[in-house]
Amino acid sequence: MHRPTWAEIDLSALRHNLQEIRRRIGANIKILGVVKANAYGHGDYEIGALLVKNGVEMLGIAILEEGVHLREKGITSPLLLFGGFFEEQIDAIIHYNLTPTVYDLTLAEKLAHHAHSAGKTVNVHVYIDTGMGGTGVRHDVAFECIKHLTEMNGLVIEGIYTHCSSADDNDSTNTERQIRNFKDIIAKLDTAGIIIPLKHMANTGSILRYNDSYFTMARPGLSLYGLHVSDKESRNLSVKPVMSLKTRIIHIKTMEPGETLGYGGSYKITRTTRVATLPLGYDDGYNRLLSNQGRVIVRGNKVPVIGRICMDQCFIDVTTIKNVSVGDEVVIYGRQGKETISIESVAEQRKTIPYEITCNVSYRVPRIYIDENG
Ligand SMILES: *Cc1c(COP(=O)(O)O)cnc(C)c1O
Repeated sequence: MHRPTWAEIDLSALRHNLQEIRRRIGANIKILGVVKANAYGHGDYEIGALLVKNGVEMLGIAILEEGVHLREKGITSPLLLFGGFFEEQIDAIIHYNLTPTVYDLTLAEKLAHHAHSAGKTVNVHVYIDTGMGGTGVRHDVAFECIKHLTEMNGLVIEGIYTHCSSADDNDSTNTERQIRNFKDIIAKLDTAGIIIPLKHMANTGSILRYNDSYFTMARPGLSLYGLHVSDKESRNLSVKPVMSLKTRIIHIKTMEPGETLGYGGSYKITRTTRVATLPLGYDDGYNRLLSNQGRVIVRGNKVPVIGRICMDQCFIDVTTIKNVSVGDEVVIYGRQGKETISIESVAEQRKTIPYEITCNVSYRVPRIYIDENG
């Protein structure tokens, strides 16, 4: 039996979302499925394996260790390492056959040297800063940089890419400028006869809004997981949430007016109250700022979280719920009966984005994979 606090991962929803994205971008555009951060908390191996089986071109990871994990689990498809790397990680990058991102000539030279002396070539993607800041080669010097890279033995430039800083904004100025900057570089490369097969830019936000950001490959993350940046956003891509978070009532007791509940006595009992305890706390990723604010679903009804969320437990008010009993399934994120608690709505309540909500579901919450038609 798995732990009775678990994240249910719906693989048929994932497959559906991939199809929806493919329909949106068209059959000629390749897909890089983003599985960094343990696939946004959904389980990198299981998600990655399904995506590869369903024809995605590459998987995207943020750090070396994620690539090592996927390789050790048996994933053989190309893995694009988005994040930078340190010199001392070069041997591992080559050993695990990862596709590193380059944007620094000195480091690229070291990579080329290691590869060349190991008798290998490494596929790389050049990351161009068209307006995000942070890492990346600045777009105004990118052409020169790429020219230098083409001369390095041991490296093959398989791709160039950039990343949108503002694809979710209502104001399209920044994204349009980024698209223009990226197109300018591509035009220069074309003129110079430098052929780079993969050119990519689009994350979920720009898949939804900017058809001319697709180039030869798109890089969806959030939309694969069936999520939108906010609850208010127009739902013009019909994806389904992949993750639900569930638990079961472990204890129920009646408390009387005048008593207080939990750490700090932050919740004062004002009427006879049936308090249910859930084996779910902030170490599971149920954020403590939801104390006295969260809502969950029991027996098809939404009920409030009362008192402070503890490390391993929290409390809900089930006074109005008929026949509620120990062992009842409680939905934290997801659907039960006619009620839904969307991850987007929890993100809004927490003043964050859905990404952080699913990423925070912690290591000790087992992921249970379900697949209706797999
Ligand atoms: C995380 C990430 C993505 C995916 O973004 P979503 O908004 O989740 O679709 C795409 N590209 C890069 C480089 C990323 O780091």
